[in-house]
Amino acid sequence: SVILGIESSCDETSAAVVRDGRVVLGHVVASQHELHAEYGGVVPEIASRAHLERLLPVLRQAVGEAGVGFEDLDAVAVGNRPGLIGSLLVGVSAAQALAWSLGVPLIGIDHVQAHLYAGHLVDGEEPAAEVMAERTLGLVVSGGHTSLYDVGGPLDAEVIGRTIDDAIGEAYDKAAVILGLGFPGGPAVERCAAGGDADRYALPVSMLGRESLDFSFSGLKTALLYLVRGRPKTVAGKPVFERSSQDLGEQERADLAASFQRAAVHAVTKKIERALDRSAAGYGRLVAGGGVTANRYLRGELASVAERRDLELMIPKMIYCVDNAAMIAGLAHHRFVAGDVDGLDLAAMSTPSGAGKRKKA
Ligand code: ATP
Ligand code: MG
Ligand code: FE
Repeated sequence: SVILGIESSCDETSAAVVRDGRVVLGHVVASQHELHAEYGGVVPEIASRAHLERLLPVLRQAVGEAGVGFEDLDAVAVGNRPGLIGSLLVGVSAAQALAWSLGVPLIGIDHVQAHLYAGHLVDGEEPAAEVMAERTLGLVVSGGHTSLYDVGGPLDAEVIGRTIDDAIGEAYDKAAVILGLGFPGGPAVERCAAGGDADRYALPVSMLGRESLDFSFSGLKTALLYLVRGRPKTVAGKPVFERSSQDLGEQERADLAASFQRAAVHAVTKKIERALDRSAAGYGRLVAGGGVTANRYLRGELASVAERRDLELMIPKMIYCVDNAAMIAGLAHHRFVAGDVDGLDLAAMSTPSGAGKRKKA
């Protein structure tokens, strides 16, 4: 199949054309980071407006790059959940209009399930790994999710562990604010940590008891905050800090970033090991995805877990880690070939669905 994918759930406007669920023929991402930077986070109203302005040029460019015509498309896929509702609506409306005018099926895709699929994508004719089969452990580490999955196939993932507070990407973003670094925070913390000593500060890694596969990052964030700014005194009901991030020396900031990064990533690898220990059947493959898989330290740590535990590791190429439409179009192929498509009344939904369901113990 040749499928056009559209992604607009947050602050990336993206379109891609993917052949047979694997080969990316054209792929364009317009990021809005500069629009949101001065606010230190994504402003929903600004995001929807920017999607509206950018989507048509992005679509034309992706189809042009793919060297196909709109009439060659077999289906139109769109990330319709979860995300910012105003942003999702822009992508969903465009996809509805295109599918209707081209007379092809419309397929609504779960953004988080798509992150989990992104490791399958290849460019051009390079060989692709076989589609994920039985006994796969899945990991999504992104701005809104930190979850472990028992994966039965591209469209079948059940949650076995998830964060009870912040997502790891959110923790990176908040750490960046605490350390006085820019937005988006993840790449800024990674760059700052490069010159740092991760042994300098012992930051807490929350295990949530001996059995849990869940995650918690709020204690780590608070510990970092107190290291940087001191313990607050309460004055007139409000916390007042002695120091600010401006008072940090360069080396101190780098050491804090490195120590934070190590604690955050170890929280993830320890739960992976726990899931492996607990599984009776045994996993043969680890599939990871989401924006934080762009982090080189995390990639290295996942590679060593995989090596140690004799797992095949499937992790997206750097460009398919953060939000992109190629993962949407790729996953949609599996629904297209199964004849499982949506009606033109497809709705945008801000809350998770499929990839959010927890497996019963
Ligand atoms: P979700 O996919 O859960 O709905 P999202 O779409 O906002 O959330 P993604 O685009 O998948 O999230 O990932 C964005 C997150 O990844 C941000 O929190 C960002 O800081 C983080 N991130 C991106 N690059 C890196 C990096 N190199 N190191 C650490 N974190 C990173
Ligand atoms: Mg984003
Ligand atoms: Fe995402």
